[in-house]
Amino acid sequence: MTPIQQDVINAIRDIPDFPKKGIIFKDITTLLARGDLFRRVVDEIADHYSSKKIDMIVGIESRGFIFGAALAYKLGAGIVPVRKKGKLPHKTIAVTYALEYGTDTLEIHADALEGKKHVLIVDDLLATGGTAKATAELVQKCGGHIEGCAFVVELAFLKGRQNMNGHEIYSLIQY
Ligand code: AMP
Repeated sequence: MTPIQQDVINAIRDIPDFPKKGIIFKDITTLLARGDLFRRVVDEIADHYSSKKIDMIVGIESRGFIFGAALAYKLGAGIVPVRKKGKLPHKTIAVTYALEYGTDTLEIHADALEGKKHVLIVDDLLATGGTAKATAELVQKCGGHIEGCAFVVELAFLKGRQNMNGHEIYSLIQY
């Protein structure tokens, strides 16, 4: 394990039984509050993509916006939000995907990737991969090319990366 991986693991707080019984929620707010470590995390992820041409970050609501915005600044890219249904004001494209119980819908502005084709999808955490897979579908529907999908945390035991249709996946730490 590298020093930054150890520092991130130490900084993340486990919240048992949130938002429901049996889930151990990985609370990254305790990482965000440490300016030195937040910067190192963003720099580390940006380094991984330094040889790729990325002109747009697609950040997943809501913690993906935090890391995504910092990465966009660092990479000199724009940022596009992918949001829960009904939050985006202009014409949208939607994808509905299955949850453990029921479904959820994510949206992107239909014109969000006009002229910007090289996309990095960003979220704080990869679990089953349902959210990231739906986001990848939205990006492709908008004509974007997915250069990679970056996460701070991967719950590898849930095998989310197998759900990602072969897209490049980067995670800083794995459980
Ligand atoms: P999934 O679609 O199962 O990959 O879930 C990923 C989304 O749910 C991400 O936006 C995460 O922020 C959130 N999430 C899922 N499981 C957890 C967890 N154990 N701790 C924190 N966030 C989680």
